[in-house]
Amino acid sequence: MTNLILFGPPGSGKGTQATKLVEKYGLLHISTGDLFRYNLKNNTPLGQEAKTYMDKGALVPDSVTIKMLKAKVDENKNVGGYIFDGFPRTIPQAEALNILLGEDNESISALIALDVDDEEIVSRLLERGKTSGRADDTDESIIRNRIAVYKKETSPVYDYYNETGHSMKIKGIGSIDDIFGRLCNEMDKLV
Ligand code: ADP
Repeated sequence: MTNLILFGPPGSGKGTQATKLVEKYGLLHISTGDLFRYNLKNNTPLGQEAKTYMDKGALVPDSVTIKMLKAKVDENKNVGGYIFDGFPRTIPQAEALNILLGEDNESISALIALDVDDEEIVSRLLERGKTSGRADDTDESIIRNRIAVYKKETSPVYDYYNETGHSMKIKGIGSIDDIFGRLCNEMDKLV
């Protein structure tokens, strides 16, 4: 199996690139943000709980997030691999993911981070907010909070996988196809 963590700050293009990677490599895309939004839309208890955090640009508690992710992986065992997008976002999430994959003698093949600077992120997210219908994309202070949370809680996940030589960065600025080309260069070494 090829198990990729597509990493990077909010608005770095993870979702866009994940869709293209799925087409090319046939992996299962699991986005915790999408799973939370699905629950929100359907007004499930999980969605109601997640909303209070998402609206502030805060992280949903690890226990809730890990449980949801585990259920999704358990439902989809017969796949060629996973693209994790928006997960893990904390060190406890990374540890839980390693244990979960380890139960099937699997592991993370690589973490690829899309490198994009803060000002580019703020302008991309404000632009996305005009059409996405996402409350967390319309308010600049919420966007800045998400970036701060990313730096404090999420960026250590890069170092965590870097310790075992699994982390790498690619330039996340340029056309969608240019960035996809850079990602494929790395993916082709893994599959
Ligand atoms: P973005 O990458 O644009 O911030 P996502 O769609 O990945 O957006 O996530 C939206 C929101 O969902 C996050 O701000 C957070 O509140 C919640 N969320 C998503 N994934 C996680 C996670 N792994 N752990 C905790 N909260 C998460």
